[in-house]
Amino acid sequence: MASVPPPEEGSVTVVVRVRPQNQREQEGNQHSTVRVVDDRILVFDPEEPCLPGVFMGFRGHDAPKRKGKDLKFMFDRVFSEHATQEEVFQHTTKEILDGVLNGYNCSVFAYGATGAGKTYTMLGSEKSPGIMYLTMVELYKRIEARKDEKYCEVLISYQEVYNEQIHDLLEPKGPLAIREDPEKGVVVQGLSFHQPKSARQLLEMLANGNKNRTQHPTDVNATSSRSHAVFQIYVKQQDRVVGIAQDLQVAKMSLIDLAGSERASAANTKGERLREGANINRSLLALINVINALADTKSKKPHIPYRDSKLTRLLKDSIGGNCRTVMIAAITPCTLAYEDTYNTLKYASRAK
Ligand code: ADP
Ligand code: MG
Repeated sequence: MASVPPPEEGSVTVVVRVRPQNQREQEGNQHSTVRVVDDRILVFDPEEPCLPGVFMGFRGHDAPKRKGKDLKFMFDRVFSEHATQEEVFQHTTKEILDGVLNGYNCSVFAYGATGAGKTYTMLGSEKSPGIMYLTMVELYKRIEARKDEKYCEVLISYQEVYNEQIHDLLEPKGPLAIREDPEKGVVVQGLSFHQPKSARQLLEMLANGNKNRTQHPTDVNATSSRSHAVFQIYVKQQDRVVGIAQDLQVAKMSLIDLAGSERASAANTKGERLREGANINRSLLALINVINALADTKSKKPHIPYRDSKLTRLLKDSIGGNCRTVMIAAITPCTLAYEDTYNTLKYASRAK
């Protein structure tokens, strides 16, 4: 299988991952709203049923009708419901690790509606850890391989942007202020940095950090997440040359599990939740605008509206410019998520 070409500087690579239907969806005989054609093309709402067996066995009258939009989308890569965590990592993040080791910041986002598989892709479960973990393991491997030439230090941080405020997830505190340092780039004041001693310790840190995320049950989805979780890996390097002072090279990789992209109005919200909803949209919409601005004007020097939200200010030195960005659009293939899936595909396709 062909792999995604390494992204150019400043470019956005866009991939789509379809999650498998869960048991409840399967029992409800939900047919799939997407057909993965190959590793670059998928059809949304195909004219032909995707799973003839399931379709034929379907007897109910409560399933939403297929509309038959039959829209073909092309991405840098499409992962079907059979794709493993390792495959997704291999073809999205592994390739841009070289960029980080060469001193370039980069970022990987999981975008999509609540329940579409963002957290699974980025964090994963203990049994199948996601991109955050796999990235660290690969990074340690590469550093070990060239430890005789380079001195290297790796630090991590994990924070959330919730309600336009930044909180530390590893040493719960906040709200924390952002400032821009001419040398260090974007700095979150008071954020804690950590050096996991082992892969196991890293997994524990990520799991604990995730427990500290702000989650509020709503009528739509009991575990819906309204916060953006930002995991950052800082790589400091120096050549090992005896007797000569070497420049210290610092680069950072941001791995982001975004809040659900469904419209705030879809949740039955009022009061606090509504304000919160508006703010989520602010960070998410600002990010969407930033990515669109990058995609729309590739050659010119466009105005990139980083200042419009906390999330985009936080990521100002990690998207655009000489940074590489990968967007993983997560979608649910079941009919009930028809609109969300359609919206995610439309947006993802525009971001290329
Ligand atoms: P999100 O973070 O986008 O709201 P989750 O990652 O929590 O969605 O996924 C919703 C549910 O689907 C979870 O129970 C998760 O374990 C499961 N899931 C998501 N993607 C996959 C996958 N590729 N394989 C198996 N289970 C998945
Ligand atoms: Mg989630």
